[in-house]
Amino acid sequence: MQIAETIQELRQARQKLSGRIGLVPTMGYLHEGHLSLVRTARAECDHVLATIFVNPAQFSAQEDLASYPRDLPRDLAMLEAEGVGLVFTPSAELMYPPGYQTYVTVEQVSQGKEGSARPGHFRGVATVVAKLFNLIQAQRAYFGQKDAQQVAVIRRMTHDLNFPLEIVVCPIVREADGLAMSSRNVYLSPAERRAAAVVPQAWQRAAQAYGAGERHPEVLRSIVREHIAQEPLARLDYVSVASARTLAEQDAPSEEPLLLSLAVQVGRPRLLDNCLLPMALNTREGASAVLGRIE
Ligand code: AMP
Repeated sequence: MQIAETIQELRQARQKLSGRIGLVPTMGYLHEGHLSLVRTARAECDHVLATIFVNPAQFSAQEDLASYPRDLPRDLAMLEAEGVGLVFTPSAELMYPPGYQTYVTVEQVSQGKEGSARPGHFRGVATVVAKLFNLIQAQRAYFGQKDAQQVAVIRRMTHDLNFPLEIVVCPIVREADGLAMSSRNVYLSPAERRAAAVVPQAWQRAAQAYGAGERHPEVLRSIVREHIAQEPLARLDYVSVASARTLAEQDAPSEEPLLLSLAVQVGRPRLLDNCLLPMALNTREGASAVLGRIE
């Protein structure tokens, strides 16, 4: 496995790769969720190119940039064991050298939900992903459904800026009790970790109601609210029932595919989770077909 730390090293190594390249962008501290993206890319592409970069542009001043968990040697060993051919590990100075001043803003779809909770976050995400798309020239890029609004933002940017690549969305990988895997789960104390199971339980209850015929968005939201309220260590930040295609919040019952998403503060981390409704859409094919789809 080759490791590129500079743009020159990356370009030289990239030139030697032919066929379909699958890009897997990450912030490192890898877990099975990241590895599921790598495995899907490996199955579908000739070469997998992973990136590890904790992107300062997507963290606000109040957020955990300095303390974000990192373990590069372990990450590299995990990627090598998965058959990744090339890893790009740039520094912040390489990506944003002195004088840097170009940013990508995706408008409507960046608003609401994570966009309201984390102003500037999606501008940082869109900017770094645009830079990676330009540098790497992949045919496909793999993202997790876990960050569903991020997928919709990247889809929109890819379409609007004419990047010639396909966005693939992979399902959420979970712990045994249903908690979505996340690098930030290491911040949870043992009691908080137990309490965190309410997050997947909450959307599962709403999904059950949907399965039984409930279509009213506000009823689905209140099922989530009531379940989270039962756990004293959890505070609901938002629950959203939106169109899976546009991410516009829904008020009226409909048979359109929906994204039910929530963010819950449990101790230090904000835990994100979501499901697509109907539940059959929570697959690589279903999520890639509906989430942030540009008609
Ligand atoms: P991050 O390192 O958190 O920026 O995540 C890198 C990529 O892995 C993003 O596309 C995430 O959506 C994806 N990802 C993170 N956690 C999971 C998970 N539990 N299951 C599937 N994909 C995930």
